[in-house]
Amino acid sequence: MAASSPVDRVLAAVDAAADELVAFTSELIRVPTVNPPGDAYAHCARLIGERLSAGAFDVEYHAADGRPEHTTAHPRINVVGLRRGRSLRPAVHLNGHVDVVPPGSGWTVDPFGGIVKDGRIYGRGACDMKAGIGAAVYAAEAIRRAGIDLNGSVEISGTVDEESGGFAGVAWLAQQKRLSAERQDFVIIPEPLNVDRICIGHRGVYWFEVTTHGRIGHGSMPFLGVSAIEHMGVILDRMRRELMPALAARTTDLPVVPEGARHATFNINGIQGGQPVSGIQTPCVADRCRAVFDRRFLPEEGFDATKAEIQALLERAAAEVPQLAYELRDLMVVHPVRTPEGSPLVAALERGVQRVLGRPATRVASPGTYDHKHVDRIAGIPNCVAYGPGILDLAHQPDEWCGIDDLVNATKVLALSVLELTQTSG
Ligand SMILES: [Zn+2]
Repeated sequence: MAASSPVDRVLAAVDAAADELVAFTSELIRVPTVNPPGDAYAHCARLIGERLSAGAFDVEYHAADGRPEHTTAHPRINVVGLRRGRSLRPAVHLNGHVDVVPPGSGWTVDPFGGIVKDGRIYGRGACDMKAGIGAAVYAAEAIRRAGIDLNGSVEISGTVDEESGGFAGVAWLAQQKRLSAERQDFVIIPEPLNVDRICIGHRGVYWFEVTTHGRIGHGSMPFLGVSAIEHMGVILDRMRRELMPALAARTTDLPVVPEGARHATFNINGIQGGQPVSGIQTPCVADRCRAVFDRRFLPEEGFDATKAEIQALLERAAAEVPQLAYELRDLMVVHPVRTPEGSPLVAALERGVQRVLGRPATRVASPGTYDHKHVDRIAGIPNCVAYGPGILDLAHQPDEWCGIDDLVNATKVLALSVLELTQTSG
């Protein structure tokens, strides 16, 4: 009788472990790693670490020492496991963030119950991205249970704070050289981009703050003061009339989904001016108004032109209103990233999707950024993508869920990709 191929053995091992995979994902959901503030990270890291140890990984815990958000109350603990095969390279690293956004309202199930029903796992983080972590862990475990010794190594990490920028998580590991082109060849982030889509990057981000400065005066004689709020209004009006239509007319060739995000976009995150409206009011002209903006820019635009456009708009507003005084401050800049054309990583995942789902994969780009940026910019590993189970649109929603079929299939695709990328044939 002919022995079955490694691919068949791995696929069978994933199927055989399906119940365990679902139970592990539920267990992860039951750890309420809410960010902010960054609860229960150490507990979650240990849960992943113990599972990796049981799967023959060497496990390390990396506290983000020196980061201001790494505190006694909310320690930032990352877990990294390495399982070496016949050699260290090629090395495939699967990275998932352990943090989840707050549940918010509108839930009909316990957001931290990890409830399984009707072929779905429910809970905050079910798709974004505890299912992805489960898939990574069981992809590696299925390879081990199939009795396959990799011709390279596989690593799995659970990292913190992706939802708030990833500075104590993936960025920190990259700064410490734990993630680096010297160590890893390929990085897959199982974010919920849908089971048949491979995410090859994202647009750029420019967060900035504009402050207008007025002059305080008596509210009964507003003509003797200068209203910073009115002047912010002038700026906002120009943004709406001039900037927004210009941005909507620009498109990128990056395959961003959903379609509406294939353009340059702009959001007003918050605005604050004059007296707090919930406090006791006094008759005063507002002498200060601040607003924070989120501008998503296209690779084709670039950061310099993006910022110059904002500066020019502010200058035009100031020219229109003589007393309009403003200040522009950069809060965060993330440059666009894109997996190189012809990356073997994309090819391996595409073959995996075709094999497991029987249909071709679609290449997409994410509307928002994720830890890819740190892998690319700080660790210097260009071969990075996001691929994982779960429906993108359900991320951060009430009653978030991940389909068990998707979870199992994504686990298979990840396992086959690890085999191919490590050039393991038996
Ligand atoms: Zn995520």
